[in-house]
Amino acid sequence: MDSKLLITRKVKMKEVLKNVSFIILLLKMCFIFGQEIPNQKIIVIDPGHGGKDSGAIGVNGIQEKDVVLNIANAILKLNNELDKPLDIYLTRYTDTLISLSDRTKLAKALKADMFLSLHCNHSGNSDVRGIEVYVANAESNYSQESIWLAFQLQTTLKNQLGFESRGVKFANFQVLRETVEYCSALLIEFGFLSNVDEAVYFSESSNFTFTALNILKGINNYLKKI
Ligand SMILES: [Zn+2]
Repeated sequence: MDSKLLITRKVKMKEVLKNVSFIILLLKMCFIFGQEIPNQKIIVIDPGHGGKDSGAIGVNGIQEKDVVLNIANAILKLNNELDKPLDIYLTRYTDTLISLSDRTKLAKALKADMFLSLHCNHSGNSDVRGIEVYVANAESNYSQESIWLAFQLQTTLKNQLGFESRGVKFANFQVLRETVEYCSALLIEFGFLSNVDEAVYFSESSNFTFTALNILKGINNYLKKI
């Protein structure tokens, strides 16, 4: 074999090897995507209010907008510590006011699997207390899943936080109405800031983490079932 032919063969061999490694790379990518895309669930957490809209003001001066942002940030932090973190987005990361329609548009644009709006309650009667979980009152694509998730979270929060349960309720809230068509949608009222015990509870940073942990557990349990 003359040297010219040998060089040509070597070049051809190299090209074949290149193609083979390219195909292997493609196969690997298909395997990775095939495995991970179906499992990658997107969760949008919506801390209510923000900026000039403080939401409810507690008997001890705490503001709803801060309580819910603290819980949302604690959920993000705990999620990042998981081996397989969920894909979680917040509608706001800081003390800023976002319109209700922008909050729901984000869930739609991200093709979220779950939309969770976080709030605290207020009443003129300081004895009123407990957790409420709301779902949209109109029948939609994800009504059944939302109701199921609402009962799960309600039970978990009641048992773990030791708060009273005021039940799963149905309402025509804009953030629920505009998201339940695309994904499971819930609004949680964590407790009454007009009640001394509950306002004090949500003044403690360790309670933000504990509440966040139970929400995250609830989300994970739900995702295992869908
Ligand atoms: Zn609110």
